[in-house]
Amino acid sequence: MSHSAVGTEKSPLRVAIIGSGPAGFYVVSNFLKHRDLHVTMDMFERLPTPFGLVRAGVAPDHQKYKSVTRVYDRSAKNDNYRFFGNVTYGEHISLEDLKQHYHQIIFTTGAQTDRSLGVPGESLVGSHSATDFVAWYNGHPDYVDCQFDLSQKEVVIVGLGNVAVDVARILCKTENELKHTDIADYALTALKSSHVKNVTILGRRGPAQAAFTPPEIREMGELEDADVSVSYNEAHIDETSRRLLEASGDKNTKKNVAIIEEFSEWHAHEKSKQLTIRFLVSPTEIVGDDEGHVTGIKLVKNETYLDEDGAIKARAIGEEETLPAGLVFRSVGYRGVPLPDIPFNEAKGIIFNHEGRVTDADGVVQTGLYVAGWIKRGPTGVIGTNKTDAKETVDHMVEDVKRGVTFEPASSDYEATKAFIFSRQKDAITYDDWTQLDQKEIESGIKEERPRVKFTALSEMLDVLER
Ligand SMILES: Cc1cc2nc3c(=O)[nH]c(=O)nc-3n(C[C@H](O)[C@H](O)[C@H](O)COP(=O)(O)OP(=O)(O)OC[C@H]3O[C@@H](n4cnc5c(N)ncnc54)[C@H](O)[C@@H]3O)c2cc1C
Repeated sequence: MSHSAVGTEKSPLRVAIIGSGPAGFYVVSNFLKHRDLHVTMDMFERLPTPFGLVRAGVAPDHQKYKSVTRVYDRSAKNDNYRFFGNVTYGEHISLEDLKQHYHQIIFTTGAQTDRSLGVPGESLVGSHSATDFVAWYNGHPDYVDCQFDLSQKEVVIVGLGNVAVDVARILCKTENELKHTDIADYALTALKSSHVKNVTILGRRGPAQAAFTPPEIREMGELEDADVSVSYNEAHIDETSRRLLEASGDKNTKKNVAIIEEFSEWHAHEKSKQLTIRFLVSPTEIVGDDEGHVTGIKLVKNETYLDEDGAIKARAIGEEETLPAGLVFRSVGYRGVPLPDIPFNEAKGIIFNHEGRVTDADGVVQTGLYVAGWIKRGPTGVIGTNKTDAKETVDHMVEDVKRGVTFEPASSDYEATKAFIFSRQKDAITYDDWTQLDQKEIESGIKEERPRVKFTALSEMLDVLER
């Protein structure tokens, strides 16, 4: 096949997208904007259901963010798009397989694991990753069997980003606040009988350096049956941070600081649960009893300082304390995982790339391979950030097609590719299958006034599908 013909009606550009989160769907919508280019896109997803963290990460009580899937649904209705759920790159299909069927392969696999704290005691019973808890309450099929001991009264969450805030909010909400969400049924049942009373979130620097966003932190002060508190000393930011903040014009951080200062003036302790936000503390050890269960967390107090690169950093000032805790969640960042045959930057937890073109460790571009989303840039930004990120990569992909720099797949038969995929995974889920599952979930939700009741087991999904 001549390269110059790729992307024409006779020889459409064939793209494989690995991962069906926001980045994957923004790759689709960006390609569809190139109306002069004939392109077919096959998306592979290890889960039976699409949408990545929008389904499995975004909190169930934040449905407004989840509504972005309607936009993805519109892209998926395009005739030149196909979905193959329950198909894992590296298990059912390899790089060599994909090169036989596609001109270009783009990885949008996200950040599938989390960072550890690196302190003693992290493997004690009752010490968990927030990632696991989030996946559990969202009904991610791989996490349905996780156990969290909600008979504990004291919970500590390490980290001060939106994920930590989500976990704290879910733990503090009442049944009434959760029952109309799409939280997994088993999680709702477990949370209904939770004994959790005190939830403490720990940040190592001050309010001006916290990674949460204003709407999320403001919501902490609006909970039905949990009081929020911040100590006056920890809430008020140091002079250097204030000077830098004034000079930066960063409106979100200014709002964050103002909200935290306001919380520090509240002194109500009337509700059943207490939510405490701490600043300027770092965990040094998770402590446990003789049976290996978490009983507390040792902290050291910090001060902030300006380092030589102009960043505000934290350093310990020696004072220590131990907070009682029966459950500890770490939430100090997500991290990508390596994929077979693809160069991986261990230090950053992303695939080596230059503006979305995969490179080797020396920066040499690897023909036909691309990345977008969290596996490209790391776990930063909101859902919408992946849109511009995917555009940058798709623009380069189109440029490379025009330059004739693509793989040369042996097979160009659209239907043969589908047959090949089903030969590797007979239980692959198509978009029509997902549409059926989606409708069934929504129907089950109607009588309970919930957006949906999620299927959480693959076997259950395969059983109800009519095909
Ligand atoms: C707990 C949490 C809550 C969040 N809440 C919000 C929020 O409220 N609002 C907001 O704007 N942003 C939120 N975000 C951020 C947002 O979810 C991310 O920006 C976005 O999901 C990243 O998109 P992505 O496509 O790169 O990765 P993902 O969404 O993670 O998608 C990657 C997909 O690739 C699949 N995959 C991985 N490996 C393979 C493989 N080998 N083969 C096939 N498929 C594979 C995964 O199963 C997954 O479906 C939240 C993030 C987290 C972690």
